[in-house]
Amino acid sequence: MLVILKPGTPEAGAAGVITRLRMAGLAVHRTEHDGRTRVAAVGDTSAVDWKEVARWSGVESVSPLARPFKLASRAFRPHDTVISVGKVAIGGPQLAIMAGPCSVEGEEQVFTIARAVAQAGATVLRGGAYKPRTSPYAFQGLGEEGLKLLRRAADANGLAVVSEVMEPQLVPLLARYSDILQVGARNMQNYALLREVGHTDKPVLLKRGLASTIEEWLLSAEHIMAQGNAQVILCERGIRTFETYTRNTLDLNAVPVVKELSHLPVIVDPSHGTGIRDKVAPMARAAIAAGADGLIIEVHHDPDRALSDGAQSLRPEQFGELVRQIRTIAEVVGRRV
Ligand code: PEP
Ligand code: MN
Repeated sequence: MLVILKPGTPEAGAAGVITRLRMAGLAVHRTEHDGRTRVAAVGDTSAVDWKEVARWSGVESVSPLARPFKLASRAFRPHDTVISVGKVAIGGPQLAIMAGPCSVEGEEQVFTIARAVAQAGATVLRGGAYKPRTSPYAFQGLGEEGLKLLRRAADANGLAVVSEVMEPQLVPLLARYSDILQVGARNMQNYALLREVGHTDKPVLLKRGLASTIEEWLLSAEHIMAQGNAQVILCERGIRTFETYTRNTLDLNAVPVVKELSHLPVIVDPSHGTGIRDKVAPMARAAIAAGADGLIIEVHHDPDRALSDGAQSLRPEQFGELVRQIRTIAEVVGRRV
């Protein structure tokens, strides 16, 4: 349920309402909008007499939060969530450009790529150190050594870091090196992992599952938010369809749909969305035109020798050209790089 307090309700009054809702066994989350405190009371709301709550002192209105996702919904928080990471405010007027290798492979590789993407205009360095590989015999990542390299390469170039965490036990380690915790497509419904990242104070980049509906994706965001971490960045990365010419089908419908349903920022990954180097730029341009808050793109200086996802990695000069094009498109949709 959504309980909106009257404008000017003193903090003690708000605290009183919140305490009474908690005593009814509900979890309570608050946000401010339009000079009013908005309180989402979630859990088993059936035992509460909401007509009575509407008469409590300081309460302006009580209404149901109709969607299955509550904290992620625009009904709870009408204005866009903006998540600050280093120099970037994700969800604000400036687009978040995240780029880097699929996997951290070594010092020279990650430093070369970090320098190139920073020069081109990226603000966040991506790179996997723990990789979810379809084959157990494929390169699995450099582990903590990879995280150290990624952090150093990012710091040397004024970039923030995003890296994937695959297991709940590894969340503290990832949180030590990475500014943003990436939950990969394969783990979108790993609820133990969602709970664990929900307990941290780090922004979470939540990729859409390979075969997940938008509602399931937003409910996964809700799992994180229900633990108290409201800093969720959604990432559309393509879904499985009957189409085989591309690795996945990049669902750009999701961008405007999510923007209506949720206040959370949504970025697009055209690298995994297409799986094909020369299809990455057109879909990246389309994503920004569709209203995405940013991009996450795989870049490699020697993609033929990349240990993962070389076929979909842009060369640094291709990435530079793409960012120049994105600057122009951004202006048309009222954003900037
Ligand atoms: C990745 O970012 O390299 C990755 C494995 O992505 P996804 O989870 O979208 O497949
Ligand atoms: Mn990859």
